[in-house]
Amino acid sequence: MESQKKQFKHTIRENWCKGCNICVAFCPKKVLELRNGKVFAARPEDCIGCKLCELRCPDFVIDIEEIDATIKKVTDANQVDYCLPPEAHQ
Ligand code: SF4
Ligand code: SF4
Repeated sequence: MESQKKQFKHTIRENWCKGCNICVAFCPKKVLELRNGKVFAARPEDCIGCKLCELRCPDFVIDIEEIDATIKKVTDANQVDYCLPPEAHQ
């Protein structure tokens, strides 16, 4: 059976990010970048889920979550509201 690469979801509370660059510096896979002083996942497909960014951010901006491949298959993209900020889901 073909082994599937794990994928990870990056939840970023952009409003809390002060652009200190700590997470960018710690990421071993260069997934994160700063744009206009805020962090974003530039290469999420390269993420290995080590959570260094989540653990090192002093402002709790980032949450890393493994995407369950079985759930992903049955999720209807039309049902997902991408406009909602992460805080709205809590
Ligand atoms: S979990 Fe690890 S690899 Fe993924 S973005 Fe954070 S520091 Fe980088
Ligand atoms: S460590 Fe936190 S506050 Fe600093 S740039 Fe990264 S997400 Fe923003």
